[in-house]
Amino acid sequence: MRRSPFGSSGPLVSAVGQGTFLMEHDEPRAVAAALQSGLDHGMNHIDTAELYGAGRVEELIGQALIGRREQAFLVSKVLPQNATRAGTVLACERSLRRLRTDYLDAYLLHWPSTHPLEETLEAMATLRDTGKIRALGVSNFDESELARAISIAGPGAIACNQVLYHLADRTMEHALLPFAEAHGVTVVGYIPFGRRTPFPPQQGGSTLSDIARRLGRTERQVALAFLTRRPSLLAIPKASRIDHVHENAASLTLELSPADEAELEAAFPLQERRSGISRV
Ligand code: NAP
Repeated sequence: MRRSPFGSSGPLVSAVGQGTFLMEHDEPRAVAAALQSGLDHGMNHIDTAELYGAGRVEELIGQALIGRREQAFLVSKVLPQNATRAGTVLACERSLRRLRTDYLDAYLLHWPSTHPLEETLEAMATLRDTGKIRALGVSNFDESELARAISIAGPGAIACNQVLYHLADRTMEHALLPFAEAHGVTVVGYIPFGRRTPFPPQQGGSTLSDIARRLGRTERQVALAFLTRRPSLLAIPKASRIDHVHENAASLTLELSPADEAELEAAFPLQERRSGISRV
């Protein structure tokens, strides 16, 4: 079961976790069953945000985790418009209530805010010092924004940066990933299926399916294994269907060979733009 450290000194978490965007539209019993089955199959990293369903998704997760909170590595995010010093603390406390827990394993700024980053990070440091969160992080920060966050929060304080990352968009590998690795920041990739699998054969799809067939795995399992091939890389696919959950969790037992990785790198080449990140 592949697990990776969260940040420079954080605990080991599942390399592939569970996203929760749009789960408010799914049947609540299916959501609970999916999240619990994901935990049973080793996907302990659960990602959410106050944004999702305007808090409804956090409530669904809170219900699903009754009696199992300690088994999960629970991450939520503050909306940029709430990310003042006081607003960040209040938003976190609302998330804790909805999630039926007294701490988050990590709390992130969802994307760069017009409020001073110093205030947001100071509020998160206070939340950490009072035990309401265990680690702090950011999301949708490019390498220069991440450098600024590290310079404010201090070395080792920013545990993760959550950014868009899938086979057809590897932009962040140019500059963000090496910078994050040099500073002990885990890169959590979102939308790992790119909202477009299966990939067209001429755009890497045939290589992906060849490798999957050779390994006796599915294309999505190969994609997830590639996206989490280094200890600095985590992925958080969202799945409400149990068969999807099981398929994604099984990628935790798949290790690609250097030759498989090289084939995928050639089939899904790096973007020409050599800096920054893609945003949704
Ligand atoms: P995604 O995980 O790439 O795709 C989710 C879709 O794929 C769902 O329709 C799901 O179906 C389906 N799916 C999952 N596993 C599958 C499988 N094995 N086979 C076939 N279909 C499968 O996209 P996403 O939910 O947009 O992104 C993942 C997570 O990243 C989000 O849920 C959220 O937690 C996070 N995120 C963060 C940001 C940010 O700004 N920080 C932005 C976007 C997303 P079912 O649900 O029906 O199973």
